[in-house]
This record gives sequence, structure tokens and C-alpha cells, in this order.
Amino acid sequence: MITKFKKTENRRRLVLIVDDEYVNRELLGYILNDDYDLLYAENGKEALKMIRENSQALSLVLLDLFMPEMNGFELLEVLREDEELKGIPVIVLTSEKSAEVKSLKLGAADFIKKPYDVPEVILARVFRIIELSEDKLIIQETERDALTGLYNKQFFYKYAQHINRYHNKDKQMDYVVVNIDNFHLINEIYGRQFGDELLKFIAVSFRKFLIDVYGIACRVEADTFYMYCEHQESYEGLLEQIINVLTEITKTRIRLRMGIYDRQDQELEDEIKFDYAKLACNRIKGNFATSIAYYDMELHKSQIYSQRLINDIHEAIEQKQLMVFYQPKYGITTDEPQLRSAEALIRWRHPELGMISPGAFIPLFEENGLIQLLDDYVWKEAAAQIRAWKDKFGVTLPVSVNVSRIDIYDPNLKDNLLQIVEKNGLTTKDLYLEVTESAYAEDAGRLIEVVEELRRCGFKIEMDDFGSGYSSLNMLSTLPIDVLKLDMKFVRNMLEDSKSYRLIEIIMDIAKYLAVPVVAEGVEVEEQLKLLKQVGCEIIQGYYFSKPVPPEEFEKFFE
Ligand code: C2E
Ligand code: CA
Ligand code: CA
Repeated sequence: MITKFKKTENRRRLVLIVDDEYVNRELLGYILNDDYDLLYAENGKEALKMIRENSQALSLVLLDLFMPEMNGFELLEVLREDEELKGIPVIVLTSEKSAEVKSLKLGAADFIKKPYDVPEVILARVFRIIELSEDKLIIQETERDALTGLYNKQFFYKYAQHINRYHNKDKQMDYVVVNIDNFHLINEIYGRQFGDELLKFIAVSFRKFLIDVYGIACRVEADTFYMYCEHQESYEGLLEQIINVLTEITKTRIRLRMGIYDRQDQELEDEIKFDYAKLACNRIKGNFATSIAYYDMELHKSQIYSQRLINDIHEAIEQKQLMVFYQPKYGITTDEPQLRSAEALIRWRHPELGMISPGAFIPLFEENGLIQLLDDYVWKEAAAQIRAWKDKFGVTLPVSVNVSRIDIYDPNLKDNLLQIVEKNGLTTKDLYLEVTESAYAEDAGRLIEVVEELRRCGFKIEMDDFGSGYSSLNMLSTLPIDVLKLDMKFVRNMLEDSKSYRLIEIIMDIAKYLAVPVVAEGVEVEEQLKLLKQVGCEIIQGYYFSKPVPPEEFEKFFE
């Protein structure tokens, strides 16, 4: 974007006078001299050179039309085609009425009649055109995103409203959200400058597309774009075209995701419709089979359901609708299986929606951070339960609780856990902590730090869902863990699928190398148990022994 001096700055503007007649140059110079800095050129060619040299500083060109070498029309044409120069306003100096229309078409801002008027009129015109052009620049700068030149969010919504009200009252419009997959990685791998170029290229592609479909676009943040345009049957073509060119430039496949809201609902505000389009766009994150998603009834329902859960969670905690169930873990190295510990798993008995499984709300609360509230609740319940059983049966049964990725970033995590343990008269050996493997993959450095500290306090760390994440072998050897929990999907498929079985063997080897025991979860039948025992698995959790049950029911396992 051209950065020009603003009119608020109190400085003399630079004006170029172009005329082949000496007398005319002198005359204008005489009139303007007191208020402006002046440059003079005798023909179009000379003028163009000066304009190029002073493009940043020049506020106005006064241009005669009929000159040798390059005439005024020709110069106007060159300026109009030049991205950097076309913003400089030109006032045409002419005695012929007929030349006015042609000059206007070529982008002239105004005229000064020859022979010259009284000086006041000329000064007024010069002042007004400079002011107008500087106003336009200021408007453009506040309206637009500096990097891509697209509207910024605020003005985008304003213009969308304008289009609604005045142009497209009865037309069906689309609300489109576009996002680049893994943009932070692209920035990291290729550098920020490359990332910027990518964003600019996408913006240019949208602009071209939008000319024909009467639309506007904006960049809302980092790598998220909004488009508002007439309803399109399909966006496949646009997306494919952009991706093809991007692939050619970058030699890597860059993926764009698109979410579209195309329902006709006059009631909803534009912002909400874009929120919905964004939701559709987010739904296909990581789904490489699809790049375009529409906001539909199914999504609408699930969204309303999610919102309901978010609204109700605080009350649920207050009214004790949340319950903790326990699932036993049995040691299988002895002839008779032995109860070793339990996993605490949350349940929500909603007064209207009935029993809700954690699969329906845990991912949701992980997204918005509410999970911390919930985990804290489960930890306290579990610790109190260990205490109660200890008092009742005289044995301490360790219970493992789930620790979410977000909990790890909480600076109070350690103190909170210590306090919970202490308050119930337990030791840190009694509460196991399950952390999923994918959390390790995400920000290994930070996680390892936190986990090390917890281990120093005496907590045992179980790596949950092992085999589902992406931890590399060489990372594994440095991981601070005490137990591996085999991802359930291996167990589920181990009897039918030799590959799953083979993977279990490999994981057992890794565990041996790390010198940690393996817990297999999701064990439902005896054959699974036998085979797992054969390959050296020490602990089993699954329906084979019991589903997660309420604490009263769990007590039968103590007997
Ligand atoms: P997870 O931590 O991997 O928990 C094991 C899940 O497998 C539980 O599902 C359990 O009921 C189920 N399961 C156990 N044995 C079997 C079996 O033999 N067959 C089958 N098909 N399933 C079995 P649940 O309770 O529905 O929990 C699902 C997930 O929700 C958990 O997976 C965990 O990621 C999350 N979750 C549950 N409670 C909490 C909690 O208090 N905090 C956090 N952060 N996450 C929780
Ligand atoms: Ca778990
Ligand atoms: Ca698990």
C-alpha cells in the first residue's frame, strides 16, 4: 500500500506542472508558488520520469494535453496501468471541451480551463483535489487489511449490510469461510515471508473471483478469510484453481478448507451466519477427504446440543448431576487375577437429556477450557473415594484420573493435586495420573517438564491411548512415564487383524525397553486376555472384568 503523507501533516505538498509552453508553466508556477513545492516538465516523457522518481512525495500532477514526445492522453494511460502511480491525482489543463470526456475516462480527477481563470479558482481546485485524494487514502488504509488489501472485518460487515440493503434484497447470498490447514506449520517451515505471500496470493484469487459474483472479501485474522457473495452452485472450481496454482508455486500440497452457510434466513445476523460457516469449516479440520462443508441441519442440531451442555455444566456441578464411575484394573501375572487399581470416569446424569456419555462433552469442554472445572471435580471425588474405601476396607486402592492437555498448562496443577491428596490424608502414590499420548506429541517440551515435576512429587504417570499419537521412538526414550496404556483399538482388532497383533508385540518391546508395565484396556473376551498375557501384558482393564460402575457397585470387587 502506498504510504502517503496525511493532510493532517502540516507540510508543503509537491506538485508537478507539465506543459510544453514556457508561458503556461510560468503562469501556473507563479500562482502556486506560495503554497506548494513545484516541479516542471515540458512533455509527457519527461513528466513520467519525474513522476516515477517522486512517486512517494508527489501530491498532484497538472497536465497539459497537447505536447510533443508523449502527449497528455498517453501519459494518463501509462499512469492508469501502473499500480504504484495510479493513485496520484491528475488535473488536466485544457481549452477544449471535447477533450474532457476522454480525459475523465483515462482517470483525470478534474480540469482547469485555459486560458487560466483568476488565481483563487485554480488554487481552490488544486487544494480540493489533493484533499480528496488524501482522504481516499486514509479511508483505504482504515478499511483494509494492510497485508492483503482486503477489507478488514469491521468494514466488511458494514459493506455486507450495505449490499443487503441496497443491491441484493431478493438474491440468495452465501457466507463463506476459508482457512488454510496448518498455517502455523507453513510459517514455521517456509518462513513468515512465504506465509505472507501465500495470504496475498489467496486474497488476489478471491478478488478475481468476486468480480463476477458481486461479492466482497476480508481477512478476519491470520489465515482466515470471509467471503460474501451471490449464491454459487459450487465452489469446487474456485478452490481447485487456487490449490493448483499454490501447489505449483510451493511444490507442496497446501490444503484450504471452506465452510459455507447458504441457507436463507432473514432473521439471523451476518456475524452469526459467518460463525455457522466457520463451524462447518472447523468440522472438516483434519478430514482430508473433504475440503468444502456446508452448514446443515445436522450441524445445527449438534451445535444447539453443545451450547446446551455448555450452559448447563455449572449447574450440573452444583447439583451433583456429575457422577464418577470406577472401572477396575486387574493384574494378570498371577494365576488368579488381582484387583490392582481403578480408573475414574465421569458420567453426567442430565435431568432432561438423560445419561450423557463423556464422549459427547469431553471434547467440547476441552475446546473451551471448561474441562478444567470438570477434571478438578473428578480428582476431588476420586481422592475422597480412595479415602472412603481405605476407611471401610482397610486397603488403599489406587485410582487413576484423567488429566487433560489443558490442565498441563495450568501453573497451579501441582499444588492443586498435592492439596487434594493431602486433604484426604493420602499420599501421591495413591492417585495415578493418565495423560494421553497426543498431548505429548503436541508440546513435548512443556509437558515433559510438568510431568517430571509431578513424578518428583511421587505421582505415577500413565501414558493413555498409547499408539494413537505420534510420539517418535527417539522421543519415547526420554519420556518420563511409569505405565503405558495400550490404545483400545489394537485390542479391539487383535483377534481378526494380524497387523494389530504385531503392533501390540512391538509396543510390548518398547515397554520392555522403557522398563514400564503395560495396561491393556478395552479387553472384552477371554481370548484377548490370554493372548495379551502371552505377550507379557501385566494389567487388564475392560468389560471382561467390568464396565465402569458407580462406587457402591464397585465395592463388590473388594470382597
Ligand atoms: P479413556 O480414558 O480411554 O477411557 C476408557 C474408555 O473406554 C471409557 O469410556 C470406558 O468406559 C471404555 N471402556 C472400558 N473398557 C471397555 C471395553 O471393554 N470395551 C469398550 N468398548 N469400551 C471400554 P468412557 O467412560 O465413555 O470415556 C471416554 C473417554 O472420555 C475417556 O477415554 C477419556 O478420554 C474421557 N474421559 C472420561 N472421564 C474423564 C474425566 O474425568 N476427565 C477427562 N479429562 N476425560 C475423561
Ligand atoms: Ca483414561
Ligand atoms: Ca484410554
